[in-house]
Amino acid sequence: MSERPGTSERPLRIAIVGAGPAGFFTAGALLKETDFVCSIDIFDRLPTPYGLVRDGVAPDHPSIKKVTGKFEKIASDPSVRFLGNVTFGEEVTRDDLKSRYHRIVYAVGAPADRRLGIPGEDLAGSWPATAFVAWYNGHPDFAGLEFDLSCERAVVVGNGNVAVDVARILVRSSEELARTDIADHALAALRGSRIREVVMLGRRGPAQAKFTNVELKELGKLEGVDVEVVDSDLMLDADSAAVLKSNRTAERNYEILREMSARPSSGAERRIVLRFLTSPVELVGEEGRVTCVRTERNRLVTGPNGYQSAEGTGECRLLDAGLVLRSVGYRGLPLPDVPFDDARGVIPNLAGRVTDGPGGDPVPGEYAVGWIKRGPTGIIGTNKADAAETVRTLVEDLRVEGAGPAPPGGDVEELLAARGVRYVTFGDWINLDEQEKRNGEAEGRPRVKFVRVDDMLRVLGK
Ligand code: NAP
Repeated sequence: MSERPGTSERPLRIAIVGAGPAGFFTAGALLKETDFVCSIDIFDRLPTPYGLVRDGVAPDHPSIKKVTGKFEKIASDPSVRFLGNVTFGEEVTRDDLKSRYHRIVYAVGAPADRRLGIPGEDLAGSWPATAFVAWYNGHPDFAGLEFDLSCERAVVVGNGNVAVDVARILVRSSEELARTDIADHALAALRGSRIREVVMLGRRGPAQAKFTNVELKELGKLEGVDVEVVDSDLMLDADSAAVLKSNRTAERNYEILREMSARPSSGAERRIVLRFLTSPVELVGEEGRVTCVRTERNRLVTGPNGYQSAEGTGECRLLDAGLVLRSVGYRGLPLPDVPFDDARGVIPNLAGRVTDGPGGDPVPGEYAVGWIKRGPTGIIGTNKADAAETVRTLVEDLRVEGAGPAPPGGDVEELLAARGVRYVTFGDWINLDEQEKRNGEAEGRPRVKFVRVDDMLRVLGK
């Protein structure tokens, strides 16, 4: 088999597993390569593409979703196919892909959540924020969840942008939410919400918060919402003061927090309270439901590498709360038959080249990109540079190793059809997309999402 793949007669066949931003940016970077011609199949376990752009980005942030225009253009390239509703490890296995593609790129993201590891974490009413996000965005796996919003106070644990998103969605007026593409079930539940106060707990100080300036500032501009920042939380130790001098985002966050703390309460109906140097140490419940959070005051301790970590002072308080959203980060999950670094929750890799373990040998022909490659950090655009790196690695390997023998298997669509998989093409998605937008028009909303896979397949006549 000496034929050189990568010509228009024999394109290099590449499977991308995961149709989120990392998968699409990878396809885009591959299409730009001039050394070879490739044909790309992008698989996703959902019938809908775009991953967290559809299921993660907050409904009241429509401008962030505009990136789908770029992805649509990539998917419209004749050498790209989208194959949705196909679960890796079930409807197609790693072996199926290895026998049909020269290269596989895993772009599956980080669908699970990190744990707090404190007593009471699994009481009813305590949820990972990631589940709440997926629920209000209409992710089919989460559409059936029921969040009890009948309490007056919710606690959000964490100081990242997801924590800001969920806090904001909890206090935004339902009139505002009704103009977004929030899932109908979430809109109905939030309309009946009795939550008046959301307390956000940061285990470290304001200088170490992970949220970004625009997101923090937006909290202070919400209609009918006061933001309270406790003055004493803004006292800085010398190392934190030094952080502000070297980190522009942290410095600006601090200025915004100062402005917030100086603002008098307007007596608004709802409020957000931002607390720092405070950790939950136990969720306390009655009859299996969370009723309050035991919090502990922290101090910062600077380690030998300069990292400032939170250390409990022993000073504890009880805070009544009927809903707790743990927003302490996403976590990757292992894929069947693919190496996994359990400690980091990623596929072990070197600049995107999959290895058989952390620091191990390369696994030929397999690559990783996005959150499953680097962990759950960065914004959507971060994945563009990340994809460029993985594609660079893939191209370097190709130059050194060649593409290897032509994969013996036939077209994957034949395999899927033979297995009775009701897979969804990009044309199908465009149909769904148009239908969702039409359903939204009548209500003055960008779209009304289908939230059940069966409904999506029924609309498509599958
Ligand atoms: P994140 O930015 O990593 O924030 C996680 C937060 O959880 C940090 O404040 C962290 O504190 C805290 N935390 C971790 N373990 C904890 C524990 N045991 N107890 C208390 N607090 C704990 O993660 P994220 O908010 O899930 O966001 C993921 C990525 O998506 C981020 O890069 C984010 O910027 C991005 N994102 C962007 C947007 C946007 O652009 N609008 C929206 C959503 C998400 P420490 O710092 O002390 O570890």
